[in-house]
Amino acid sequence: MSGALSGKRAVVTGGAQGIGRAIAERLAANGARVAVLDIDAGAAGGAAEALAGGGHIGLACDVSDSGSVDAAFAEIAGAFGGVDILVNNAGTGRGPDDGSDQMYAGAAERAAQIARGEAPTAHADQLIHMSDAGWRRVMGVNLDGMFHCARAAVRLMAAGGHGGGIVNIASTSAASGEGPLHYVTSKAGVVGLTRALARELATRGIRVNAVHPGPTDTPIMQSVPDTMVAAMEAAIPLGRMARPAEIAAAVAFLASEQASYATGSVLTVNGGSYMV
Ligand code: NAD
Repeated sequence: MSGALSGKRAVVTGGAQGIGRAIAERLAANGARVAVLDIDAGAAGGAAEALAGGGHIGLACDVSDSGSVDAAFAEIAGAFGGVDILVNNAGTGRGPDDGSDQMYAGAAERAAQIARGEAPTAHADQLIHMSDAGWRRVMGVNLDGMFHCARAAVRLMAAGGHGGGIVNIASTSAASGEGPLHYVTSKAGVVGLTRALARELATRGIRVNAVHPGPTDTPIMQSVPDTMVAAMEAAIPLGRMARPAEIAAAVAFLASEQASYATGSVLTVNGGSYMV
C-alpha cells in the first residue's frame, strides 16, 4: 500500500506510543503527512520526528479538553492547510479512585478459585468503588475526546469541501463487556458515535469507521495484572496478543480509498476470539 495516502494530511491522537505510534508510522510510510497529538508533548514531538518522510508535526493536546483540541487543530490548519484523515486513538483504562485495583484483585482471585476447581465466590467489584472523577476521566478521554477531535476535524474537512476519513479506535470490550466498567462503557459509546457520524457525514463525503482491537502488546497493558494478561492470551485462537502494527494495518486500510464503500463499519482485529 506504499503511497496509497500520498498528499493526505492525517491527525493521529495518542500517537506518541503504542497503537497510535504504529498508526502514525504506517500512515507516514504510506505517504501521508502526520500530526501526532498526545498529552505527552515531548513524546509527541519525538514520535513525529522519527516518522518516515518529511513535514510531520507533534503537538501537545489533551483530547478530553475541547479548548486544547481546538488549539491543536488551529495549529494543524496553519501547518497543513486542512485535514483529510483523523484517527481517534487516544484512550485510557484508568482514572483516579476508579476501583480498578479492587476489580482486578477480585478477578484474579475468581480465576484462581476456578483453576483450583472451586466454585468462584470472589467479587470483581468496580462499581461500588468507582469515584465520580475516575468515571469522568475515562469517559472524558475515550468518548468526549473522540467527539472533540471529530468536531474539530470535520469543521476543517467541511471547509475544504474535499471529504475525508475518520477511524475511531474502539475495543472488543465494547462487545464482550470484559474490562473496566468505565472503559467498556466508553468504547460502546465510540461504536455509537461512529455509526451516527457515518450517517450524518456521508453527504459530505466523509467516511467514519471503527476498529475493534483485541488485546494488543502496548504499554496500556501494564495496568492489567500479569495473570489476567496470561489468561487473555490463552483464550485467543491465534495464541498471542496483537502487535500494534497489525492494528495499524487495519486503520490504514479504512483510511484509504481502498475502503471507499466502507462507512459505519466496525472492523474486528482480535486473533479470532469469539465475539457476540
Ligand atoms: P497506550 O497507553 O500505550 O497509549 C495511549 C497514548 O494515548 C499515549 O501516548 C498517551 O500519552 C496518550 N493519551 C492518553 N490520554 C490522552 C489524552 N487525554 N489526550 C491525548 N493523548 C492521550 O495505549 P494503546 O494500547 O496504544 O491504546 C491505544 C488505543 O487502543 C486506546 O484507545 C485503547 O483503548 C485502544 N485499545 C487498546 C487495546 C490494547 O490491548 N492495547 C485493546 C483495545 C483497544
